[in-house]
Amino acid sequence: MLNKKSVDDINVKGKKVLVRCDFNVPLQEGKITDENRLVAALPTIKKLIADGGKVILCSHLGKPKGEPKPELSLAPVAKRLSELLGQEVKFAADPEVVGPNAKAAVEAMNDGDVILLENTRYRAEETKNGEAFSKELASLCDVFVNDAFGTAHRAHCSNVGVTQFVDTAVVGYLMQKEIDFLGNAVDNPERPFVAILGGAKVSSKISVINNLLDKVDVLIIGGGMSYTFSKAMGGHIGNSLCEDDYLQYTLDMMKKAEEKGVKLLLPVDNKIGDDFSNDCNMQVVSRGEIPDGWEGLDIGPKTEEIFCDAVKDAKTVVWNGPMGCFEMPNFAHGTEALAKALAETDATTIIGGGDSAAAVNILGYGDKMTHISTGGGASLEFLEGKELPGVAAANDK
Ligand code: AMP
Repeated sequence: MLNKKSVDDINVKGKKVLVRCDFNVPLQEGKITDENRLVAALPTIKKLIADGGKVILCSHLGKPKGEPKPELSLAPVAKRLSELLGQEVKFAADPEVVGPNAKAAVEAMNDGDVILLENTRYRAEETKNGEAFSKELASLCDVFVNDAFGTAHRAHCSNVGVTQFVDTAVVGYLMQKEIDFLGNAVDNPERPFVAILGGAKVSSKISVINNLLDKVDVLIIGGGMSYTFSKAMGGHIGNSLCEDDYLQYTLDMMKKAEEKGVKLLLPVDNKIGDDFSNDCNMQVVSRGEIPDGWEGLDIGPKTEEIFCDAVKDAKTVVWNGPMGCFEMPNFAHGTEALAKALAETDATTIIGGGDSAAAVNILGYGDKMTHISTGGGASLEFLEGKELPGVAAANDK
């Protein structure tokens, strides 16, 4: 069980607090088009202000590849954050991120002030976890807070390197919530524990399948990845997505499920199309009976019933990956049925970031889930049972 020190365990009065946030927001012509990540960062920032800290925020934005790119400046974020907080967030414009301007801005801070540094990825060392930039960041502060779950699976200067040069490194509320939900679900779930995996490829979720088979009571596999299982079982899958290199792996996983007493549920029928488009000809066929020239694009109605039934009595459900090509309305039904089933259970429902989070939100069930992770890659690595460097770097309680 991960037990990390958080912002509730420290006294920041009069101290300089560097907070790594995830302000990697979509921008169009300098305008923020989705501010969820800014809103999600507010509780930690407000807490540190209320406690009298000098709050120095930092984040990456996009991929400036180690050099200043005006279109990827965090200036618009400082402006919008000021409005959301109801207090000025001074932008420490500085092409070196921690250069003379940023240092002067920090020196001028009073207790309860907030400043935002420039995009950490303006510095090439950032993504290499270089020592010099880590030290520069650490030199600005007395205390470090990591509240950026989205980058927790990466070891960069601003979330990992910096912690080697500060005495106190803790997690913020957003990070704490992710650790509590994902960590608890995987290590200490209320049972029955059901995991649902979908999405395009088996290969991107090999370790997730393997790790979850040691933990869950039921594993549901749908989406594009299920056709590799179907082919391995001798089925005909037409033009459906398939990774021939993983046929044996899927058989091994089926064997492992049997040995562990895990109920492995695969689609029994599929909604198929004669083209990868919403307006193609469609039909429903049994698993393994997809004609040539057709491809599986969603789970079928019988499968929906079986999957939704398995979720009904669960106490914990973790979901990563859609059941079909949910971006096309004609093939969103399976994903939607499952989202609805999750919304209606009393179980703790945890949605992995990325596509699954997008699907649940687009389909309108976002507010019915217990927790939607803010990190796609990071939540997958959690489910793989890996130690996330950004989490590991925080002080233990
Ligand atoms: P992933 O990033 O692996 O979770 O994959 C998500 C993507 O998988 C989504 O864009 C879906 O459209 C796609 N997907 C799901 N099911 C299928 C399928 N049967 N055939 C092709 N793509 C699929």
